[in-house]
Amino acid sequence: MTLHWLQSARSARSIIGLAAALMIGLASPATAQQASGTALARVLVLGTGGTIAGQANARAGNAYDSGKVSAANLIAAIPGIDRLAQISAEQISSIGSQDMNDKVWFDLVKRIRAAIDNKEVDGVVITHGTDTMEETAFFLQNVLDTDIPVVLVGSMRPSTAIGADGPANLYDAMRVASAPESRGRGVLVVLNDTIHGARWVQKTNTTSVQTFRSPDVGPVGYVDTGSLRFLQPAIPAKAAKLKLPDAPPLPRVDIIYSHANMDAAEVEDAVKRGAKGIVLAGVGDGNSSKSAIDALAAAAKQGVVVVRSTRVGSGYVNRNVEVEDDKLGFAVSLDLNPQKARVLLELLIANGVTEPGAVQQAFAQ
Ligand code: ASP
Repeated sequence: MTLHWLQSARSARSIIGLAAALMIGLASPATAQQASGTALARVLVLGTGGTIAGQANARAGNAYDSGKVSAANLIAAIPGIDRLAQISAEQISSIGSQDMNDKVWFDLVKRIRAAIDNKEVDGVVITHGTDTMEETAFFLQNVLDTDIPVVLVGSMRPSTAIGADGPANLYDAMRVASAPESRGRGVLVVLNDTIHGARWVQKTNTTSVQTFRSPDVGPVGYVDTGSLRFLQPAIPAKAAKLKLPDAPPLPRVDIIYSHANMDAAEVEDAVKRGAKGIVLAGVGDGNSSKSAIDALAAAAKQGVVVVRSTRVGSGYVNRNVEVEDDKLGFAVSLDLNPQKARVLLELLIANGVTEPGAVQQAFAQ
């Protein structure tokens, strides 16, 4: 018989009963912390879906569907997590993060801002698919103006898998979100005992549980069931946060992937589709063929904001080396990968920042 972690938790206690208690925000059982008079931190868990909430489906092999289990039930199935924090759980969406979109991002911001304004919470955990986790983390980092920990967590194996990594990751995320030392560190990503910062984290492996890395800087800390360590003191963010429009969508920004034998067609198509910005996932130091660079220069002349990034996966994209950025009106993404450069450029254009110099300055912050 295959006994997965949800099933074993079901035999240990009633998920439904505990999930109901979580939904109405009942305090957890008495703990040493409470006995000593220290209130547990209040942590709001916002479920969006992902493999962490995935369940095996009827197809053969290791096939599964993302986003099937609610955040409340995921929490209810983890022994001892209720001793870390007073937990409440809500569902924002139930999707695989390959379907992540502006609406869910706006809903997350709205709920988190309300929780902060109402002083409801000391920390937030967001359960999320790993495919676009780095984009959501970076988006939130750019728009949320708060010191409270906001922690994204997911898993590489669905809840029904042998050796599911979701429970340990969620437990670790709760430790991080409920800890005072996590304040003032921006939006964090927790998986596989490792804590990453939103600007640097990237998914680097299709299936390994050790998929998240921060190639240019390394993780910001480590966490496990017994310890939480940050490698540097918190540096409260100085950068002004970007404003969100009242409603989605954000302005259209396309990513164009550079390759050998590249012509101008993809750039020209993006302009025809109405892209307000283009991020080049360039070869090497953000390069592309002469045809593609010429087409990008023509797009920039027409008012499309062009940012050169790289498909390489680590390192900085540098200005004015092989490409004459000053002359052609381009910005470079520096250490931001194409998918994060796209997020920042959408937000900048939404805030009216389109002049290449101002865009470049924003990428450097
Ligand atoms: N496709 C899944 C998702 O991003 C993968 C995962 O969560 O690991 O939702």
